[in-house]
Amino acid sequence: DTSGLRPAQDRLTADGIDVVRLGYADLIGVDRGRDLLVDHFSRTVGGGVAFCRSVYGTTPRGGVVDFEGGLSAGLPDVVAFPDLSTLRPLPWEPGVAHCIADVFNPDGTPAAESPRQVLRSLCEQFEAEAATPIVGPELEFYLLTESAASPSGWKRYGEGTGNVYTAGRKGDPENVLLQSLRQLGDYGIDVVAANHEFSSGQFEINLWHGGALDAADRAHRFKDAVKELARRNGHLATFMPKPFNDEGGSGYHLHFSLADGSFDDPSSPDGLSAVAHHAIGGILKHAPAIAAVANPTINSYKRFGPDTLAPWLIDWGLDNRSAMVRIPPERGAASRLELRLGDASANSYLAIAGMLAGALLGIRNRIEPPDALVGYGYDPARSATLPRSLGEALDALEADAEFAGLLGKPFVDVFLAYKRDEIERFRTWITDWEFQEYTYHI
Ligand code: GLU
Ligand code: MG
Ligand code: MG
Repeated sequence: DTSGLRPAQDRLTADGIDVVRLGYADLIGVDRGRDLLVDHFSRTVGGGVAFCRSVYGTTPRGGVVDFEGGLSAGLPDVVAFPDLSTLRPLPWEPGVAHCIADVFNPDGTPAAESPRQVLRSLCEQFEAEAATPIVGPELEFYLLTESAASPSGWKRYGEGTGNVYTAGRKGDPENVLLQSLRQLGDYGIDVVAANHEFSSGQFEINLWHGGALDAADRAHRFKDAVKELARRNGHLATFMPKPFNDEGGSGYHLHFSLADGSFDDPSSPDGLSAVAHHAIGGILKHAPAIAAVANPTINSYKRFGPDTLAPWLIDWGLDNRSAMVRIPPERGAASRLELRLGDASANSYLAIAGMLAGALLGIRNRIEPPDALVGYGYDPARSATLPRSLGEALDALEADAEFAGLLGKPFVDVFLAYKRDEIERFRTWITDWEFQEYTYHI
């Protein structure tokens, strides 16, 4: 439906917006977009804005991975239509508004590879069988500063100064975190709090909860905006899951409840309903497949480990931060679970879709979780470990037909092709670890 375009163009012009940045998340969560002059908005957008289908195969460094209907089919078009309800002026770029697009095939069918489409479809399936899912995302990231002395060219912002909960200039010497929090608030991301994380240069910002698609939209924009804001100050924000050997990883924790409050049951011993237990049971059972989308990089698997506050085992616990699923202590309308599995490299839509798929299968199949973890959560005698590598997680996704079916075969096929190419590129790349290990003594 394009009838809203002309009024939208007039409204934008009246509001001083002359450029709309139309963007959407590709497979790896990069915001791929085009800047459209508002003067021509209703014309350019009317038939959909064309993008080359390579957007689903483009790697961070610009290579293109083939998949069915991609390179081998001559890279045909996909077309993007703005979701006008998502139009937001960029507070730091006067005259520019960002708008999220939905992507379609030229025949008008939704592009099944599109992460936003995957999540939308999962929300519909989830709502039809259970209730409306509510999600509150938390994202951790590092800020880096240029450094000629460091081999990578970057060092941690404020290195050696702040650590967990040090507020103010001690850990945020140039107020980058503080200014980002304000700007993200003005952008309508509905951020509520920012804090210093455990490692110096590492920060967290919390987003208020909302409907699953809205939460994913905001988390997607959040990451793009945090990177953009850092670059404007000459810094680099990274959502790489484990950028440093001896420092904490960066998580993408998801708080998850149901709009009708049905995770809560004051009469049960832990205050959680049977539905909540089944959701937990499903998330635990399908965790290796969820990891494929919640922990989608080679580096993701270096974040897991004992004594890290990142998970290592497939378990759950009441207010226990060493568990993969933590049940925060609040009850009533705030009864919820916190999935701590995902890391910051996850595509914001796909990690949520993976969580919903696991929970839905748990609810559908009435899967009872094992007993909740009590105390120290990193004893491997107690629970199975998470996949040790991206390859293991991808195999688990492929083997879990029920789970993969919820995400949709076209998406899973493209995702597996893309990620297996990533593994193959890494397999043949010589790392600095190998150089250090093998050059001198051997
Ligand atoms: N950084 C940890 C992770 O990778 C989480 C620390 C925390 O609980 O805030 O998930
Ligand atoms: Mg944190
Ligand atoms: Mg958390």
